[in-house]
Amino acid sequence: MSIKISETPTFECETGNYHTFCPISCVAWLYQKIEDSFFLVVGTKTCGYFLQNALGVMIFAEPRYAMAELEEGDISAQLNDYQELKRLCLQIKKDRNPSVIIWIGTCTTEIIKMDLEGMAPKLENEIGIPIIVARANGLDYAFTQGEDTVLAAMAHRCPEQENLIGNQQRNDKKSIEKLFSFLPIETDKRPKQSIINKKNRISLVLFGSLPSTVASQLSLELNRQSINVSGWLPAQRYTDLPILGNNVYVCGVNPFLSRTATTLMRRRKCKLIGAPFPIGPDGTRAWIEEICSVFGIEAQGLAEREQQIWESLRNYLNLVHGKSVFFMGDNLLEISLARFLIRCGMIVYEIGIPYMDKRYQAAELTFLQATCKKMCIPMPRIVEKPDNYNQIQRMRELQPDLAITGMAHANPLEARGINTKWSVEFTFAQIHGFTNAKDVLELVTRPLRRNNNLENLGWTDLVREG
Ligand code: SF4
Repeated sequence: MSIKISETPTFECETGNYHTFCPISCVAWLYQKIEDSFFLVVGTKTCGYFLQNALGVMIFAEPRYAMAELEEGDISAQLNDYQELKRLCLQIKKDRNPSVIIWIGTCTTEIIKMDLEGMAPKLENEIGIPIIVARANGLDYAFTQGEDTVLAAMAHRCPEQENLIGNQQRNDKKSIEKLFSFLPIETDKRPKQSIINKKNRISLVLFGSLPSTVASQLSLELNRQSINVSGWLPAQRYTDLPILGNNVYVCGVNPFLSRTATTLMRRRKCKLIGAPFPIGPDGTRAWIEEICSVFGIEAQGLAEREQQIWESLRNYLNLVHGKSVFFMGDNLLEISLARFLIRCGMIVYEIGIPYMDKRYQAAELTFLQATCKKMCIPMPRIVEKPDNYNQIQRMRELQPDLAITGMAHANPLEARGINTKWSVEFTFAQIHGFTNAKDVLELVTRPLRRNNNLENLGWTDLVREG
C-alpha cells in the first residue's frame, strides 16, 4: 500500500476551548531554578486554589512563592494597592531576603487594570530589591508560556555587553598605561589590538529554564564541539544573569519561548539562532549542528553519538513502532515531541497546540516535515487553539493507540478503552539532550507496558454508553 504523504504541514485553528494549566504555574519550577528569587502572585482565591492543588506536595516545603490575595476593597479601589504591595514586599524582604521579587500579574489584575509595571520601579527604589513584573495570566497565555513572560521580563535586567566591555577597556587601558609608563611613546600599538579582539568577541547565551543537571549536560555537549556557553537565562541565581548585547548569539532550548526570543532580538539586539529543540537524539543533534554551523565549526562525532543513543533505546522502539498517537495539546512541547515520536516509528494523527509561533518554531517545523518524509509517514494535522470536544469526536473515529492529554480527559478516555499519558509530566520530566531521550520514551511507553501486563484481564472498555 502506498501512503500519500502530504508535503506541507496543514495548520488549522479551532475555538480555543481546551484544558491547560494556568501560566501562573510557572512559579513552581522557576522558584526552584532561581535560588535567590521570590514569586508573588497578585490574584484572587481562584489562583490560590489552583496553585495549591496543582503543585501538590510542594506546598508543604515552604516554597519561595506566595499569593497576594486581592480583596473586595482592592478591586473597588478603596484600598491603596501601592501601600498593600509595599507592606507585603517588606515582609518578604524581612523573612526571606531574596535578590529579586517577581510579581506575577493575573486575570484580575488585568481586568481591574492594576498598574503593576508602574508601581514596581517606585517600590524597587524604596525597598532596595529589584522587582520584575510578568503578566502570566490565563486571559492571554497557556501553561508554559508563563515561563516565557517571566524570562522576557528578566531579559531587560541582564547586564549590557557594551558597558561591561567599555569598563573593561578603560581598566585594561589604565593597567597597560601603568605597565608601560616608562615607555611613553610605544605604549599604544599592541594593547589596541587586544582591545579590538575583545570587542569582537562573540558569545553564546542559551535561554530556557532547565534543571541544572540538564543545563550542564547541554553546555558540556557544546563544549565538546569547542563552543563555550557564556551564560543561561535564567541562571541559577538572579545575580548571575548573562551579559547581553549585539555580539551575543542566543539560542532557545524550549519551543514555548517566543516572546523571550523576540525581546532578546529586538530589545537587547542579540542574534537568534533558529534551531530545532534539543528533545530526542535527533533534535539534540540538529540543535548542536545548527549552533556549530553559525559559529563556523564542523560538528564532530555527532552521527555516531546519535546512533549510539538510538541503539540504547531499542527495547522502547520495538514497543512503540507502528503505534498511533494523538496530542490533544496543552504545553507547547507538542511539535518537538511529535517529531521525536515519528522518528521512533510512531504515527501521529493530530498535534494539538495552544499557540503556534511559526517563525520561532520554523526550524522545528521543517525538521518535522523532513522526519515525516524520512519515515514515510503522512504529515500530521497541526491544530492550534484546539477544541477538546471536537478532538474527542475525532479520537472516537481514529481510535489512537495513545492519547497525550491533560488530567481532565485522561480517566474518562481510559475508561473508554483509549490509553492515555498525562501531558504535564513532559513539562516536569527531564527530556532534553541525548541522555534524557530514554526518559521521554519511558513516559510514552508506560501506559503501553501497563497494558501488556494487564492484557489478559479483558477489562478495557468499562463505560456503558447510554
Ligand atoms: S486563569 Fe486567571 S484567575 Fe485562573 S488561576 Fe490563572 S490567573 Fe488566576
